[in-house]
Amino acid sequence: MPIRFFNTLSREIEDFTPIAPPLVKMYTCGPTVYNFAHIGNFRAYIFEDLLQRHLEGRGYQVHRVMNITDVDDKTIRNSRAAAQPLDQFTRTFKDSFFEDLRTLRIQPAADFPAATEPRYIERMIEMIQQLEHHGIAYQADDRSLYFRLSRFPDYGKLAHLDLDKLRPTGRVRNDDYEKENIGDFALWKAWDQADGDIAWDSPWGRGRPGWHIECSAMANAILGPELDIHCGGVDNIFPHHEAEIAQSESCTGKKFVRYWLHCAHLMVQGQKMAKSAGNFYTLRDLTAQGWTGREIRHTLISVNYRLPLNFTFDGLTAARAALARIDEWATRLTTLAAAENRASLHPLATSTLFQDALDDDLNISGALGHLFDTLRESNRLMDQGAFTPADARALINWWRNINQLLALDPDPSAIPDNIQSLLEARAHARAQKDWLASDTLRDTLLAQGWEVKDTKDGQRLTPRP
Ligand SMILES: [Zn+2]
Repeated sequence: MPIRFFNTLSREIEDFTPIAPPLVKMYTCGPTVYNFAHIGNFRAYIFEDLLQRHLEGRGYQVHRVMNITDVDDKTIRNSRAAAQPLDQFTRTFKDSFFEDLRTLRIQPAADFPAATEPRYIERMIEMIQQLEHHGIAYQADDRSLYFRLSRFPDYGKLAHLDLDKLRPTGRVRNDDYEKENIGDFALWKAWDQADGDIAWDSPWGRGRPGWHIECSAMANAILGPELDIHCGGVDNIFPHHEAEIAQSESCTGKKFVRYWLHCAHLMVQGQKMAKSAGNFYTLRDLTAQGWTGREIRHTLISVNYRLPLNFTFDGLTAARAALARIDEWATRLTTLAAAENRASLHPLATSTLFQDALDDDLNISGALGHLFDTLRESNRLMDQGAFTPADARALINWWRNINQLLALDPDPSAIPDNIQSLLEARAHARAQKDWLASDTLRDTLLAQGWEVKDTKDGQRLTPRP
């Protein structure tokens, strides 16, 4: 079965054929570093992480770019409120963003371009000059440059807006605007007092880029004029991605993006997340309450990306329980497998249903359903003594492949490597019927704070209470 994705542009499920396989050029809108990222942002980044891991598992080479918006209306407004220079202000949130990615086990993108890097500012200016040359960009009375909407009839296609009904109402200078205020949008904003000392030289005088041209320029500079996949949250569709298409395609004359993938909203306890509603959470808020990155990752990954995710504390508790089941099962398999080096071709271990589900527009709930079916079935077989050590070894390999995509290994602190080695040495000693060595290793483990019990499935390890 081919890999298929729902394309926001066509509103249809389409077979995935990149421009030059096995390469996949993927651009993902990154954080605006004016605050700590919230869990809704991370839902989108985890979806993109799963997408990349699955494509790589299927043999593609993914070149993913994630931009950092470190200058726009919001960063300037908040840095001024904090009375800090912009770069110092955004540095704090950039650093914490990368730390949060690690906590959530999100693979780093190949490139993290920041909008204020001189080479990207240069590219933004070049693109605006090109647009001006074609009569698409124009300088208005306020000295800012705007995109002439009437010159791009496809504007609104991604968000499926009917421009005839909406009637553009003039110019918009803000980075974000409602579709009721649709109009020529800002490409370059002439300096004004609210910008403080934030400004770059340009052919049109001192100023700063609009948010939308930042992404068009960074995508173009790193990945070229044509991308395979562009992702973001549904909030990005309008106006941001709509504007990116207008700018990029007007400059290059090429189709900017083949597949647009958007992740649905995250709700908290059934409501829209908002500071005013008291249900606004950053990752740090949750880890401070004792939830691990692994538990939060499981919660955010486990709902299909196009469905709204209702984030609840019950959901986190359920994630904790699901992970405990996986851990117990994996330990049971490891213990059983220790007695043999050979792997078998047990049918459970040869199933590709997990990956097949992901081929279908990244159907993670189907994939996880299959994982837990396998877990239940193999536990049942182990209960009956009908699963050999070789079967267990094969299933461990199967799980390793799947976990390349999920990244749900136990936290390293759970069972330290040296304890794991002692446990394996003991399983080996028992297989050799070397009871003296087995007892010595049990005592060593106990001295290090771990109690080992011998069950009919083999050893079971628990931290000593
Ligand atoms: Zn963007």
